Amino acid sequence: MAYIGSLDQGTSSTRFIVFDGAGKIVGQHQLEHTQFLPQAGWVEHDAAEIWKRTEDVIAGALKAARISGSDLVAIGITNQRETTVVWDKTTGAPLSHAIVWQDTRTSDFLNSLSETSKASITHKTGLAIAPYFSGSKMRWLIKNVPAVQDAINDGRALMGTVDSWLLWNLSGGPRGGVHFTDVTNASRTLLMNLETLQWDEELLKLFEIPRSVLPTIKSSSEIYAKTDPSGAFGSAVPISGIVGDQQAAMVGQACFERGESKTTYGTGNFALLNTGTEIVRSKNGLLTTVCFKFGEEPARYALEGSVAVTGSAIQWLRDQLQIISSAPDIEGLAKSVPDNGGVYFVPAFSGLFAPYWRNDARGVVVGLTRAATKAHLARAALEAICYQTRDVLDAMSADSGVKLPEMRVDGGITANALCMQMQSDIMGVDVVRPLVIETTALGAAYAAGLAVGFFKDVAELRSKWQEGRRWSAVKTSELATSGYVQWKKAIERTLNWVE
Ligand code: ADP
Repeated sequence: MAYIGSLDQGTSSTRFIVFDGAGKIVGQHQLEHTQFLPQAGWVEHDAAEIWKRTEDVIAGALKAARISGSDLVAIGITNQRETTVVWDKTTGAPLSHAIVWQDTRTSDFLNSLSETSKASITHKTGLAIAPYFSGSKMRWLIKNVPAVQDAINDGRALMGTVDSWLLWNLSGGPRGGVHFTDVTNASRTLLMNLETLQWDEELLKLFEIPRSVLPTIKSSSEIYAKTDPSGAFGSAVPISGIVGDQQAAMVGQACFERGESKTTYGTGNFALLNTGTEIVRSKNGLLTTVCFKFGEEPARYALEGSVAVTGSAIQWLRDQLQIISSAPDIEGLAKSVPDNGGVYFVPAFSGLFAPYWRNDARGVVVGLTRAATKAHLARAALEAICYQTRDVLDAMSADSGVKLPEMRVDGGITANALCMQMQSDIMGVDVVRPLVIETTALGAAYAAGLAVGFFKDVAELRSKWQEGRRWSAVKTSELATSGYVQWKKAIERTLNWVE
């Protein structure tokens, strides 16, 4: 039997999953790593710890699958996006902690850019001017960490997103490791031109980043290198897929064609819509990003809508209000009442993101009467997840002219059947969850398998997608009509709150 390995390096943990040719999981191992929060708004990871966890989860998963590295035909990498690593290529040691995507330390610099620069960056990269992306993080490391500046002067420094750090280490590190990244990760840096798919000289100058420290941009599916036989695999396995996590979920969900989309429900929600080879620039607050590029084929692009607070609102009910003791408890509590009793909850804890982009917004609970209970609030929280998702998907339809025929979903919250039914009612389309819900890891395995011929083409991958569960809209549901009108009124109540 031949297998494919998928390395899934996320914000809170690292996993290695071994898939068989049918896409079935035959073994996996997962380990968390430390979150460093040195100051308000700062979030860091230790890239050396992440690499150590990576070696451990590879060994653990091979053991669980009862195979050795030589049984793998290829491995793929998927990763938390935007997080930025800098290291010394002679020692292999990081020169600073990695700056995580959630880190906001570079807001002031971005605010100080001229309106002309901002417009140029947005046009070239498809992104918003936000500390979320890697470019300003790289600039910060160069300007503020003397060891980074010294290493650049000596020609010893390498930088990149987490995928490039892992690829370099897997392929031998200081002993011949390759320094590459893929287009999906590069499209999250504010440094790559969406049209040329290369680092943009003007943007490098603006962020003051020397080209020599950056990885070469490759496709998402090709043989980049082989693993170092003296490492965790004990053999030379082709590394042949790299895809950022949200784009990997698109591949894992077989959203290969224009008009196909998926929504991942986790701490926040991420909806992506494949726009084919066309770069669609949003007029409605969405991001434009590379969806994937398989080998020599042209890149496919996507519109992306990110909702900051969805699952984390459920955590807030659990941890701060303590009206539930675990996240899944929300379903039973919400089901204990037939409707929201007129209560609406907008969890705009740190302002509103797509499609509103209002920093002055804060969370509200509105429509309270003496009869309101915690069950109504629980229901309102689940509805909020679905209404926010509708806001983003409506923006996508407006930008692309594509009306979604149905919604493909994945992520932790999709375990909540009530929430998925609400989503279907609110959107008025079917909501479909696949049988294999590890879509992110599966997507990286697909990209890797395509490059080595283990999978023939995307048609074969599409045929592997299997429906797990489907929710159909109740056409008479008021959630989609009067409920959505009330939701929009609740959104208005959040605005102009902080000066
Ligand atoms: P991430 O990948 O962002 O860490 P996951 O896909 O693991 O997220 O989903 C975890 C999130 O989903 C948490 O915020 C949690 O509150 C929420 N969650 C998990 N199970 C449920 C459930 N049954 N109902 C509602 N929310 C849930």
